[in-house]
Amino acid sequence: MKKQQLTIALSKGRILEETLPLLEAADIVPAENIFKSRKLIFDTNHDNIKFVVIRATDVPTYVEYGGADMGIAGKDVLMEHGGAGLYEPLDLEISKCKLMVAGMKGAEAVEGRMRIATKFVNVARQYFAKQGRQVDIVKLYGAMELAPIMGLADRIVDIVDTGNTLRANGLEPMDHIADISSRLVVGQPAMKMKHRQIQPILDMMEQAVKARRDQE
Ligand code: AMP
Repeated sequence: MKKQQLTIALSKGRILEETLPLLEAADIVPAENIFKSRKLIFDTNHDNIKFVVIRATDVPTYVEYGGADMGIAGKDVLMEHGGAGLYEPLDLEISKCKLMVAGMKGAEAVEGRMRIATKFVNVARQYFAKQGRQVDIVKLYGAMELAPIMGLADRIVDIVDTGNTLRANGLEPMDHIADISSRLVVGQPAMKMKHRQIQPILDMMEQAVKARRDQE
């Protein structure tokens, strides 16, 4: 039987470096060095498999609408997207970090409405709604740490890894929202129509994740 085309959406940036070895474990390697190219679409060692390399926040959207069959993105991005139309069959256990609420070091509790700066507006809205807190959310696209310093917000919701960025700017982590790692997602139509092609890839990647875990 002729193999169907399979498109895998990869998040550019820090996830990509850790993603490629897991794909390689499933015998999928790009035909050229992704890091040295400005291309968006890459051939692989398989005629029928291509990578598209896009912004992490666009990965779930591509997969949801069938622009890609599967993808790899951080749980933070998937939570913000909401997960509609996506299966999330595998935690790749890479690019681990935490989604946290942070504020100025030693800041007092805020009475009444709090202003939150974040790029994760959906996640933040849901989190504070669950806590029963009234908040106003201000969307920013970067350098969230600056917002409390400049009086733009009381708190931020952001990714924290070592905490160095927070500390360097006089902030501290306050509440833990979620543990984050990169996940493999598959679009619902692809899971049905291309299952026979996708399942062996999932199995090999799962084995690679397990092997990594055993090495630690
Ligand atoms: P750190 O100073 O180590 O706490 O890193 C914090 C900054 O790095 C944050 O502002 C994040 O934007 C970014 N960051 C750290 N880890 C990740 C990750 N796994 N995925 C995406 N961004 C991250």
